[in-house]
Amino acid sequence: MKTTKAGSMKFENQWDDAAAAHCMAQAGDDPADRQLALRVYTSRLIGQNPDLVMHGGGNTSVKLTRRDLYGNEVRVLHVKGSGWDLGDIEAPGLPGVLLDPLLELRALDALSDEEMVNQQRRNLLDSSAPNPSVETLLHANLPHVFVDHTHATPFLALANLPDLDAALREIFGDRLAVVPYILPGFGLAKAAAEVFETNPQVEGLLLKNHGHFAFGATARESYDRIIAHTNEVCDWLARRRGPLKPAAAVARGPEPQEILPVLRGLVGDVMAAHQSNPDAAMPVLDLRDGAEVRDFLASRDLADLSRRGVATPDHVLRTKRFPLLLTRDVLASGRAALAGAVETFLQDYRAYFDRNAPRFGGAKTLVSPHPCVAWMEGLGLAGIGATAKAASAAADLAEQTLEVMREGEAAGGFRPIGEADTFDAEYWSLEQAKLGKGVPPVLTGRVVLITGGAGAIGRACAAAFAAQGAQVFLVDREAAALDEALAALGPWHGGAAMDITEPGAAAEALARCVRRFGGIDILLSNAGAATSGDMAGLDEAVLRQSFELNFFAHNAFARAATGVMRAQGRGGQILFNISKQAVNPGRNFGAYGLPKAATFFLLRQLALELGPDGIRVNGVNADRIRSGLLTGDFIAERAEARGTDPDSYMAGNLLGREVEARHVAKAFTDLATSERTTGHVMTVDGGNIEAALR
Ligand SMILES: [Zn+2]
Repeated sequence: MKTTKAGSMKFENQWDDAAAAHCMAQAGDDPADRQLALRVYTSRLIGQNPDLVMHGGGNTSVKLTRRDLYGNEVRVLHVKGSGWDLGDIEAPGLPGVLLDPLLELRALDALSDEEMVNQQRRNLLDSSAPNPSVETLLHANLPHVFVDHTHATPFLALANLPDLDAALREIFGDRLAVVPYILPGFGLAKAAAEVFETNPQVEGLLLKNHGHFAFGATARESYDRIIAHTNEVCDWLARRRGPLKPAAAVARGPEPQEILPVLRGLVGDVMAAHQSNPDAAMPVLDLRDGAEVRDFLASRDLADLSRRGVATPDHVLRTKRFPLLLTRDVLASGRAALAGAVETFLQDYRAYFDRNAPRFGGAKTLVSPHPCVAWMEGLGLAGIGATAKAASAAADLAEQTLEVMREGEAAGGFRPIGEADTFDAEYWSLEQAKLGKGVPPVLTGRVVLITGGAGAIGRACAAAFAAQGAQVFLVDREAAALDEALAALGPWHGGAAMDITEPGAAAEALARCVRRFGGIDILLSNAGAATSGDMAGLDEAVLRQSFELNFFAHNAFARAATGVMRAQGRGGQILFNISKQAVNPGRNFGAYGLPKAATFFLLRQLALELGPDGIRVNGVNADRIRSGLLTGDFIAERAEARGTDPDSYMAGNLLGREVEARHVAKAFTDLATSERTTGHVMTVDGGNIEAALR
């Protein structure tokens, strides 16, 4: 998600009469449904701009009148439900809650989050609807028909200024009022209502250290105010922005692809220790090293800024309070220095937990104490998460935070909530209740690089690994086929088009995989191609060419992957696609079998040599799989040579059934999850005693 510099941005008002009318028309004749359709329309306008809301950090609502089962008129609040994103929300993402029972809650002195959720749920019109937002009561307590809430980048800069009141008066006069910082929930909803009732003329509210609310009688009025207010803050910030302090000239340091695997391994150690599982998965890293990020991380007093905190409380769940700071000195000093920085972060995080948890009398459970964001001075930042999606969200929020800091520091200072308030947000009881629920797929967080990834077997393997939670990086020579394979695989995977027999290709592919995901856990060295011809008549150049693809490329990828796995220091795996031909020669297939036999030997040699690093090396011996190697014409030709038809030829094994690419993929994922198996070759050929391994 790309954000823009807050001070330089201008938010365009995207309201379109025709589009709004179209949404209403599609909703039918019910006036309530038509209002809800407009609510969906402007929610999307807001949600599609990451500088307004990001990763669930905003919500919207509308108050309507509907008829209940008995024909009585009831007042209903439709408010954003959890699990929905404003950018692509639909009507079911704004569950309806009876408004009057929500308003009655205000008479209470206190209400626990659990009881608040319970009250919201028991007043839902549809009992199967998602949980209404934690900010539901705040929306309910405001009298306006439409209410919109954002965590816009400029507003976060404003909301964390030390002299917020003066700034707000200067920008808005009395059109916006400030609500003091309170953790979202019942208390904040009550405080916001009181502030509004003291200042009934306001067009919106600024929640200190948190974000912006605007409201209006119509969808358009509320949306117009969101955009206009945000632009007013932009203009004010722009007038205060000084020139960037120039970066000190420094000698060229390491490249991100040298740092990320080491960092990934060290964070993996922390996660494994927290889970008491030495085979635990590692995190995925999402690198952001655009010019603006690098400039910021090269030109500032990072030690000070890295200890300020989060721009808005809900960021803490994805970013933790502070990033892991890796200074130039640390980055240039190698693994031990990086390990020292991670250890310091860890001790610091545990101390923070130990200082704050006793306030809750043992009711809080320590979350995995690993950093969720790393600042690498002058190099860029990395989001760190259990999946590529989580890492990307952490990186998005970290990038936004740099913008908030840049603007805030220029306009007076970035002074977010302190330690106790941050802890309360991070260890919020409803989040704690989610801990340990649900078991993620077995290969979650593992990065798998597959060569020949756009071919039949490559694609089947990619799908099989992705289905088990892995992040897949495909390498293939055919760019168009690669794009198609990636599109079929869905989001959060990656790839590179290249000829893997070119010198340097393996190192380049690994570097790109590292830049995408932070490292590699499993190399599936799959690419291959067969040439036919009898040995006596074979041109030696053809044989050498076959060795380039069917042996040397396997070796080069194994070597490059081993380098990254050793930098991570947490084991790894290499999987080879061998061939029946490596052990059981087929007539006219010498040029294919010879390098495959060498690759078979390479597998055993590597298993021997890489065992001490915890790197397992295994392979699959497959035979007669329909693929680029074995096409329809070729199958027909072979079948005829054996005096049979193509289907019988393909099923010519002990089981009498054709072996498909998905069966090969299953063998690879089985080997990948067999934690104590190395040096093994699994045969997937439907049974062929002549080719059986001894
Ligand atoms: Zn909020």
